[in-house]
Amino acid sequence: MKTSVLVVGGGLAGTSAAMFLAWRGVAVTLVEKHPGSSPHPRAVGFNARVGELLRAVGLEAELPPSQVTKGFGVRRVRAESLIGKKYDETFWSPPAQLSDVEYSPCKGVALAQDRMEPILRDKARELGADIRMSTRMLEFSQDDDGVAAIVQGDGEPYEIRADYLIAADGHRSPIREALGIGRTGRGYMHTSRSVLFRASLDEYLKDGVGQFLIDDVGFLTTYGDGRWVLMLEDREYDEAELRQKIFQAIGRDDLDVEIITTGRWTISAAVADQFSKGRILLAGDAAHTLPPSRGGFGANVGIEDAHNLAWKLAAVLNGESRPSLLDTYDAERRPVALLCHQQIFARNDGHNRDGEPVDAPLYDNNAMHYGVLYRSAAVLGAGPELPPAQLPEQWHGQPGTRAPHAWIEPGRSTLDLFQRGWVLVADHPQWEEAATPLGVQYERIEQLEVFGLSEKGASLVRPDGYIAWRSVDLPDDPAGALAAAFRTSSAGTR
Ligand SMILES: Cc1cc2nc3c(=O)[nH]c(=O)nc-3n(C[C@H](O)[C@H](O)[C@H](O)COP(=O)(O)OP(=O)(O)OC[C@H]3O[C@@H](n4cnc5c(N)ncnc54)[C@H](O)[C@@H]3O)c2cc1C
Repeated sequence: MKTSVLVVGGGLAGTSAAMFLAWRGVAVTLVEKHPGSSPHPRAVGFNARVGELLRAVGLEAELPPSQVTKGFGVRRVRAESLIGKKYDETFWSPPAQLSDVEYSPCKGVALAQDRMEPILRDKARELGADIRMSTRMLEFSQDDDGVAAIVQGDGEPYEIRADYLIAADGHRSPIREALGIGRTGRGYMHTSRSVLFRASLDEYLKDGVGQFLIDDVGFLTTYGDGRWVLMLEDREYDEAELRQKIFQAIGRDDLDVEIITTGRWTISAAVADQFSKGRILLAGDAAHTLPPSRGGFGANVGIEDAHNLAWKLAAVLNGESRPSLLDTYDAERRPVALLCHQQIFARNDGHNRDGEPVDAPLYDNNAMHYGVLYRSAAVLGAGPELPPAQLPEQWHGQPGTRAPHAWIEPGRSTLDLFQRGWVLVADHPQWEEAATPLGVQYERIEQLEVFGLSEKGASLVRPDGYIAWRSVDLPDDPAGALAAAFRTSSAGTR
């Protein structure tokens, strides 16, 4: 069979890629060797930037009300037990800067991975993606014209041919290994055991603390849906011992506890040395394995990879952009992964027990979520002198950063203007005349100040909501300036 994009791996990154591609009208097939999501979730915290991406595809209403509020504000304490004595609260570093700036129309979402994945999978299917569970990719090859993979479901192996392949096959990524792509980073850190259990303990969550470093036991946290996970040191435990550890962590042994499953996790940190090779692009943990010691970088960064890739693949496949646009994927996303890696080890947070913090500047959590900078051929005017991340109000509409949020009217954000195609925001008729012949959507807005523009300026926003270029004032030849910027940043064929 033939498809435009074959995605290997149906975790959060691969499923997001299939969903974002299908949303853009790209023919996409996903193969996942397992029949469904793992009964033991890993990720639970999805940041508001991911919320924005899900809002754009119409998923916001399907997500439960958030428990994660400003920033990434999951509170932690060291404790004798869940019900016992609490010691000092251990704060995430740097301490959240609680400014009055509202960064996003969305909130973070606390939802266990095994609940989030089916929501994304159903949406991908609804949008037309061909999702094949219980189907394993056995081998693959590529040449100048495309990719061929042999896959197997219930029956005989068969071939799928595609123009491009997204390797979202997890941290061990057999595809990355077969391509001979090396990795950089701290590498193996430690191995943890976990026990996932159900118990009625919500009454102990009332003061807003959801993470507990329990003396002599381990790390206890909740998925917010009646399920809890206790992380333990790596050794064999029989069921009686697991129950004893759970009761010790809770500080009571007189309640019903249902053990759901156990897990064993290799915690490591490594970033692939290249995010693509020929027609194969790595996404998610295949591209970067980031330890959950400071939660929120792993799955979130993988979903953002998928989003970055989707519009580029769509533009190349429909002939609007030259294939060189795909080179900007590595140029934009690999530095972000390396920055996350650096930030994890610059903080001495959570159960980051693997050595002293490295000496590097700490970027605010909101800067990491809303303010990373892309420097690539798809961005004009983002020079090497700029920092890799800042808060949106510090960037002030800098090309290479996510377009800022401002309310246009109640319930409608500037961000709601973006993510389909190329958009020019401005408030001057000459810009409308410049945009229309290029097929760039013109959006007249009054909130030019948050984009760092004068009342005669304009910002060109890419289909992923990142600013490609801006003209702070009206140049002599707006049509010529915009056409040149659009052609360059989109690797346009016209
Ligand atoms: C304990 C723990 C807690 C975490 N908490 C968080 C958190 O709160 N927030 C966060 O952002 N991140 C968190 N993470 C990290 C997060 O879970 C991962 O980054 C994320 O799940 C990776 O998604 P992925 O789709 O890239 O890879 P995976 O989820 O590993 O998916 C890869 C998929 O590829 C499939 N596959 C592999 N080879 C083939 C093949 N040949 N054919 C078909 N299918 C194949 C596999 O079956 C698998 O389903 C946590 C991680 C751990 C270990």
